[in-house]
Amino acid sequence: MKSDGDAADAVIVGGGFSGTMAAAQLARRGLSSVLIDGSGRAGKGVAYSTREAVHLLNVPAVKMSAWPDALDDFANRVGDPGVFAERRFFGAYLTGILEEAQATGLVVARGESAVGVERDGEAYRVNLADGTVALGRALVLANGNQPPDPLRFAESVPDNLFINNPWTDAARAAVTRVAAVGGDVLIIGTGLTMVDAVLSLAAAGHGGRIVALSRRGQIPRGHAPYEPADVGLCDVPCGLMAQWRWLRRRATEVGYRAAVDALRPHSQALWQRLGEVEQRRFLRHARPWWDVHRHRIAPQVSVQLKQMIAVGQLEIVAGRVRKMRGERGALVVEIGRRGGPCSPAPLPQRREVLKFTLGLNCTGPLGAMGRTRDAVLRQLLDEGAIGTDHLGIGLSTDDEARAGERIWALGPLTKGRYWEIIAVPDIRGQAADVAASIAKELGR
Ligand SMILES: Cc1cc2nc3c(=O)[nH]c(=O)nc-3n(C[C@H](O)[C@H](O)[C@H](O)COP(=O)(O)OP(=O)(O)OC[C@H]3O[C@@H](n4cnc5c(N)ncnc54)[C@H](O)[C@@H]3O)c2cc1C
Repeated sequence: MKSDGDAADAVIVGGGFSGTMAAAQLARRGLSSVLIDGSGRAGKGVAYSTREAVHLLNVPAVKMSAWPDALDDFANRVGDPGVFAERRFFGAYLTGILEEAQATGLVVARGESAVGVERDGEAYRVNLADGTVALGRALVLANGNQPPDPLRFAESVPDNLFINNPWTDAARAAVTRVAAVGGDVLIIGTGLTMVDAVLSLAAAGHGGRIVALSRRGQIPRGHAPYEPADVGLCDVPCGLMAQWRWLRRRATEVGYRAAVDALRPHSQALWQRLGEVEQRRFLRHARPWWDVHRHRIAPQVSVQLKQMIAVGQLEIVAGRVRKMRGERGALVVEIGRRGGPCSPAPLPQRREVLKFTLGLNCTGPLGAMGRTRDAVLRQLLDEGAIGTDHLGIGLSTDDEARAGERIWALGPLTKGRYWEIIAVPDIRGQAADVAASIAKELGR
């Protein structure tokens, strides 16, 4: 196997926002890195590699700086702090940051998948799919959200009728195809991934009906102006139920947007204060409600969805899929409806059999890190060099995001510890902290 020569200070696996900013932050400190991304999306990642103008950021430009010490950096480039910019503009901004880091000579980007990793004395040898090796004294895991498991009820359905991973070229091609041939589309999941899929279908000129289904039928709310109503951490009671009641009361007083956003500076502390039992309870019961109020969408996107619902082009269904099969080129699905999105309690399910041209799994990323199929994560987990967190949703890390001996993890991989660590405003600070931690540990 061919070696890449001397070890860099760090090898970073994953070139999305997390990995790119880790490389840029290391370079600022004079530390070298090899940034590995096998998807052709280095400097963009999953979220910002979209080429579609309809895919907008879900927060205004003023909150999207990549640098924690220059908070208006992105807003200045866009020219309007309040705009919900196209995500591809943010991708171009991030690519510019990567190019600047590469220009220092301290960052080398490798467009290959990492397929294995070994300890080599003081260094990590990361094996790449083309047979070469990247050597680093530290290993940074920035692999991002893991692709979803196949849905059990869709296992026997042909790939051309049901797409399991909506972030692939196959998914994009399927959207274009269904827009051209017509027919109805079923989307499983009603969160942000569903929103993207609906926007893509509409932009491609799809004229058929879209049915989006999830257990509760809740969809992300839209942003709108509000009067901030800040609170201190000590104003928020302890315990999930007490917090939930407090939040509901506060929402009636100041509006849910102000109430939810006031928790933003404290969300990591509140998460850690809950403890494991209540964190699990949150994930089971409160998360769907929290997600749709906390992770809101651009106002114009919200308006578009409402219009599509009003004219019957988009139907949001609370219910579940009971059976699914392919039959003579169609996707035949038996669903059980729960009675409607506003139904306070589950009603007896009404069964219905519907036919679609295409189905898309938009239920979100893999929820169980122990089932990851990523070669590097799998190997490190199997060897015990890293472990899953207490909830099994990410990797176990210490308070400097160390996941193992000279191994750091970043971004969504660390959500068990921090919960709110999936968006740019959180990850940018973490990338700076990880670079500082690596520099300290390497004595640089
Ligand atoms: C559709 C979408 C829209 C979003 N919109 C916003 C927004 O508006 N504002 C906001 O703040 N946040 C937003 N987010 C959240 C957030 O910005 C992202 O989740 C964040 O960018 C995570 O970046 P990441 O680098 O950790 O992961 P990813 O973007 O998933 O990048 C990981 C990269 O690592 C590569 N990789 C993984 N394993 C390997 C391997 N073994 N070898 C080589 N390469 C590997 C993957 O191919 C991928 O390119 C959005 C997220 C999504 C999915």
